[in-house]
Amino acid sequence: MIPYGRQEITQPDIDAVISALKSDHLTQGPLVPRFEQQTAQYCGAKHGVAANSATSALHLACLALGLGHGDWLWTSPITFVASANCGLYCRAQVDFVDIDPVTLNMDSQALARKLERAEKEGVLPKVIVVVHFAGQSADMEAISALARQYGVQIIEDAAHAIGGKYKGNPIGSCTYSDITVFSLHPVKIITSAEGGLALTNDTDLAEHMALLRSHGTTRKPEALEYDDAPWYYEQHMLGFNYRMTDVLAALGNSQLERLDAYVSRRHEIADRYDELLKNSPLILMSRALHSHSALHLYVVQIDPQRTGVDRRTVFVRMREQGIGVNVHYLPVHLQPLYRQMGFGPGQFPAAERYYERALTLPLFPGLTSAMQNEVIAALEAALS
Ligand SMILES: *Cc1c(COP(=O)(O)O)cnc(C)c1O
Repeated sequence: MIPYGRQEITQPDIDAVISALKSDHLTQGPLVPRFEQQTAQYCGAKHGVAANSATSALHLACLALGLGHGDWLWTSPITFVASANCGLYCRAQVDFVDIDPVTLNMDSQALARKLERAEKEGVLPKVIVVVHFAGQSADMEAISALARQYGVQIIEDAAHAIGGKYKGNPIGSCTYSDITVFSLHPVKIITSAEGGLALTNDTDLAEHMALLRSHGTTRKPEALEYDDAPWYYEQHMLGFNYRMTDVLAALGNSQLERLDAYVSRRHEIADRYDELLKNSPLILMSRALHSHSALHLYVVQIDPQRTGVDRRTVFVRMREQGIGVNVHYLPVHLQPLYRQMGFGPGQFPAAERYYERALTLPLFPGLTSAMQNEVIAALEAALS
């Protein structure tokens, strides 16, 4: 089976992990801060806070922004459930903003209309989680202008987008947001096996997230309230154990060196798909001029009126041919957990229409031209 995505682990990655294993520190050593600093520097952000997953980092980000009971978090329905669940972890309520059918990202005009209505009803969100779907930046200029106008905070869920750019700035620079979160899950652009990273330009937010990541405890002399003994530490808030390990940060540091090469390779493969599929009846992904996508996913849409076959048929036929196609994503509001909260079909029509047609083709640095030809042949056979 050719999977839709797959990590690449090189000998330098393996050597880096082995040398971390032989060092004095398995969990809290020098490699986690190095990973935080190097990624922050790459993106042009001031601070990085590493965590054991992007899901944890999203939770830390929401808590640091003060999200809690009685607040609202809005996100895109076309995302992994974690973008919305982080609101539920904080006992906030979650709502969605429909996607733009061309970019597949949150529609900034739909957002403007929804904010206007929410303001009248006194239910403005505290946090909006903006997802850069498939690695292509959302319309951050418009979204951040709206956020400023309505006093809303922005988290960029850039789980797909490390290595991408928007209007010349690296995604992660937080030029248009309070916090940006990356994922280092193996299927994403670079990996630390499991891992996540929150970037911010705000020192207080960074310190708050770092405290929450490790139980809410501190040893900093200037922060201690009741004692100054050399063994002494204090817990100031209810935190978690969301720490990244030094062993895995070693892998992250090693992979970070190949980030640009990986994104370039993803562009080569995607360009070749575009070329090979340009005369097919499929709807191809648009790539916005203002952004350089990290190309986490290569998604096509199958409109049965144009192709004569539906997505399900194409999916099943391709899987039978050993092609690990996938679907990203079932709209979050249609997940049973979210239906229990009152969501249902018809609420976000662009997201639902996209979902009916979506198919993700294999895209990862190790996908050879021969493998890509196999994918195309299986796709053409499935469509005929
Ligand atoms: C993968 C993903 C996450 C969660 O990442 P983990 O590191 O697996 O927790 C969050 N949001 C989006 C959009 C993702 O694709």
